[in-house]
Amino acid sequence: MPKKKKSVLILCAHSDDQTIGVGGTMAKYASEDYDVYTVIFSYGEKGNPHIKEEHLVPTRIKESEDADRIVGGKEVMFLGLKEGRFDKDFDSVKNKLFSFIKKIRPEKIFTHAVDDAHPDHRVVYRKTLEIYDDLKLKSDVYSFEIWNIFNFGKRDHPKFVVDISEFYDKKKKALMAFKSQIDFTKVYGYITMNNWLVLVTYFKDWVNGFKNNCKQAEVFYKVR
Ligand SMILES: [Zn+2]
Repeated sequence: MPKKKKSVLILCAHSDDQTIGVGGTMAKYASEDYDVYTVIFSYGEKGNPHIKEEHLVPTRIKESEDADRIVGGKEVMFLGLKEGRFDKDFDSVKNKLFSFIKKIRPEKIFTHAVDDAHPDHRVVYRKTLEIYDDLKLKSDVYSFEIWNIFNFGKRDHPKFVVDISEFYDKKKKALMAFKSQIDFTKVYGYITMNNWLVLVTYFKDWVNGFKNNCKQAEVFYKVR
C-alpha cells in the first residue's frame, strides 16, 4: 500500500484569504510532497457589489481553483456559509467539515489571527480552535494576518517564519488569478493594479523577508 502523504490544511473565510496569507507557504509544502487542502467558509459573495451573486459564486470558485492549481494545492472545499453568519449557521456544515478533517488528518493547520480586523476572520479562528478540541487533533495550528501589516501582542506565541522567496512568483501569479477582485488601469501606458490588499500583501511579505534575511517571507504564530 502506498504511504499516505502528509497534509496541510488552510481554514479561511473568503475565497482569496489563503493565497494572501499562506500562498507562498502552500507552494512550498506542495513542493515538499505534502497534500495541501483549503477549506473556505463562504463564497465571498458580498465582495463585489457590481456583480450579481449568481454570477459571482461560480467566478469565486473558479478563481480559487485556478489559484490553487498555481501553488500546487490538492483540493479546495467551499462550505458555502453566508458572510456574517458563520457562527449561527456553523452546525449545518459541521459534519461535512469534521469528516473531511478526520480523513485528511492534517499535520499543520493555518487559520486567521485572533485579532484580525475582519469579524468573519475572527470567527474562523475561534471555530478552528473548537474543531481542534472537539476532534482532539494533534496538528500544529498557526495563525496568519490578512490586514495587519505588523504583528502586535502575539509575542507570547512562538513565531514560525517561512522563507517563500523561491515560491514568490507562484504566489504573485496565484494572487492575479482573482481577477474579479482586481481592477487594472492603464497609467502612462503601463498596466497598473489598484487592489490595496494585494499591494499590502506584497509590502508585508517584503518587510517580513527583510526582517528575516530573505527576499520574501510569510510569518505565522503558533497558537496550538
Ligand atoms: Zn477574508
